[in-house]
Parts: sequence; C-alpha cells; structure tokens
Amino acid sequence: MKGNELKPRIGIFGRRNVGKSSLINYLTGQDIAIVSDTPGSTTDPVRKTMEIGGVGPVVWVDTAGIDDEGSLGVQRIGRSLEALRQSDLAIILFTNNMFGAKEQQVVECCREAHVPFLLLYSQSDKCSAQPGLLAQVEEETGQKPFVFNVFDDSFRTPLLSLIRDSLPESAYRFHSLLGDVLCPGNHVVMVTPIDSSAPEGRMILPQVQVLRDVLDNDAVAHVCKETDLERTLQSLAVPPRLVVTDSQAFALVSSIVPEDMYLTSFSIVLARAKGLFDDYLRGTPTLAHLREGDAVLLLESCTHNVTCEDIGRVKLPKLIQRRAGCQLHFDTVAGFSALPRPLTDYAIVIQCGGCVVSPKQLAARLAPAIDAGVPVSNYGLALAYLNGIFDRAIRIFDNK
Ligand code: SF4
Repeated sequence: MKGNELKPRIGIFGRRNVGKSSLINYLTGQDIAIVSDTPGSTTDPVRKTMEIGGVGPVVWVDTAGIDDEGSLGVQRIGRSLEALRQSDLAIILFTNNMFGAKEQQVVECCREAHVPFLLLYSQSDKCSAQPGLLAQVEEETGQKPFVFNVFDDSFRTPLLSLIRDSLPESAYRFHSLLGDVLCPGNHVVMVTPIDSSAPEGRMILPQVQVLRDVLDNDAVAHVCKETDLERTLQSLAVPPRLVVTDSQAFALVSSIVPEDMYLTSFSIVLARAKGLFDDYLRGTPTLAHLREGDAVLLLESCTHNVTCEDIGRVKLPKLIQRRAGCQLHFDTVAGFSALPRPLTDYAIVIQCGGCVVSPKQLAARLAPAIDAGVPVSNYGLALAYLNGIFDRAIRIFDNK
C-alpha cells in the first residue's frame, strides 16, 4: 500500500506560472516543489505530504497548467482534471487580473465532481487585484477570492485556516466501520483463510481495519481460519453477534454459521464505509441478467501481485460466467488506467474493496459509470450474490 493514498488530497490548479508550486513551498515552508519562471515546469501531477493542524497529514497535488499547449499539453490538462476529480479540495489560482474561460472550466469541473474549491489571487506583489474583478469573480462563482503573495508571511496562517475550514470533514475524520451495529461486549468472529493468495507473515488491510474497529468499539474479536470456524463457534460461551469472513470463503462459512447469526464479509464492511453502498445494492442483482456477449468491467484500485487464485482476474469471472451460462467478456483494470472500451459498453462494473483509496477517489472512479446508468457492484457483494447469500450478507446493516 502506498503511504499517502488515504490522506485528504488538496489539488492546486491554474494556468502555467501562476505560482502553484510556489504556493506549496510557501505553505509547507520548504522547497519541495520545483519553482521556475519558465511556464510549464510542472508537467504531471506531483504529490507532497504535509501536516495541517486540526486535520493531520494531507497530500498536496501540484498540477500542470490548465493552459498547457500542444498535444502533450492537452494530455497533461486531462491528467490535471483527473487529479481534480480525485481531490478532496481544489485550490484554483489566478493572477494578473485574469479570470477567464480556463478558470471557469476548472470551477465547472469542481461542481460536476462535487469537489469544494477555493479561489486564490496570487502574486499580488507583482500585480494588485482590481476590486471590480474580484467582485465579478465572487458573483460568478459564489466564492470570495483570497488575495496573497508568497513574499509576505502574514498570509500563511489565515490561508491555512481557510484551507482547513474548507476541507470537508469526511476527508479526514475516521468513522467507525461497525460502530452502529456493535455494542460493547459483543463478540465478533473473523474468518481469515490462509491460502496461497494470503500475504506471508501478515494479515491484509481490511482484516486489520475490521479487527481494530471491533476493539475500538469495546467488542471482543476472535480470529480463526475457515477450517477452524466450527470449533471456534462451539467453544464460545456467548454466541457472536457477527461473523465477518473473507468473501472468498463465503460459501463454506455460510454453511457453517447458523442462519440466525449475522454474517458478512470484510469487503462488504469496507464497501459500506467507503460510500456508494446503495448503488452497489441496486447494481449487484444485474449479475442475474447477463446475456451472451455482455462485457463486465472489474476495477481494482491498486496494482498488486496477481496470483493464480486472483479474485478479480480468475475467481470472480469464473463464478459470473458460470452463473450467466453464456459467453461474457471480462476486462480487469487496475489503478486509474484508461478503460479498454467505452464505459457504456459494459453491462456491469464491479469495484474491488478499494482498501488503499479514499471514499472520494472511489467515488471519482465510479461516478462516470453511475452517471451513465451503468450498474455498479463491489467484489464482496458480487461474491455474496453469486454464492446465494446476498440478502444474508447485508442483513445486519438493514436491521441496525
Ligand atoms: S481490495 Fe482493491 S485496493 Fe485493496 S488490495 Fe485488493 S485490489 Fe488493491
């Protein structure tokens, strides 16, 4: 897992040479971004981490100019706008009393992607902002621009306060995964198969996160392999409130856990915490209606070591194919790579647990599918559906 992917992201946007890199250096007090008078020094998004008081570590994303030129420039603008859609907050810089179509385009993109934004008038030491322009920008965007320059230290504290106040709390506040369905003293059994796809010597992140959450809620966790589940359940004097299993062991675990006991998966717990859960609930039953030649898109939020047991490339396609009983096409795409065919060509999009990405990044990845009316699902919910235990796996969240 890359260290900075769950931290809030603040993207910085604006024309070339408007002072985007200087802003990062100014706020961090370090020369961490390359500053040059030559327009276009930043060609691709560059990420830097910094602590903001009251928020914690955030990732600054320095982007290429929105007025970049040539065919490469157009590609860079595309990457900047992609970075914008994954941002928790966008900072749009402008200067020289110029706020035109380029800036408007970024504002529009923020609105479409539901990304809050701040407008900063930079380089006020070189060119003072005209009050008439600032008023016009405020009227057009609903945002009062903050005027500053990086040669005056007195702007730093109010600017950081403004950024902190504008960053949505959901980007950095931790919400309990199971807090609304557990009470102190409840017992939770976690089933973690140790097979060839399990990393050596450690547990995977969703398992660790659920374990920590159970403990944070003053509940009691029991961890076992699927082969020890029966014995574990029999040994408990108090029946567990909940059994959480790796999705891949759903069928076996479901046959062992009594019907009146709540059962779900790590992947479903995470999917619920990351948002879009209702979209997944609506989209998953599409798996029962796939037809000959339909295309299925499997989205993975990271590139990982692919094994012969790989869920997105091997297990899920096999199960979906078997359920459909006809020939389907499967595309598996990792990270934010381009899709091999237009999104609307897919009958369903199935997203992995997304354990290394923030809710905002996940939403940004799936928004085009949801907006286009393409059904979406999640690995855990799809596996539950294909194993015939969809309703059971979400019951604890219905009855909370
Ligand atoms: S759930 Fe997704 S993000 Fe997490 S390890 Fe698997 S492929 Fe990567």
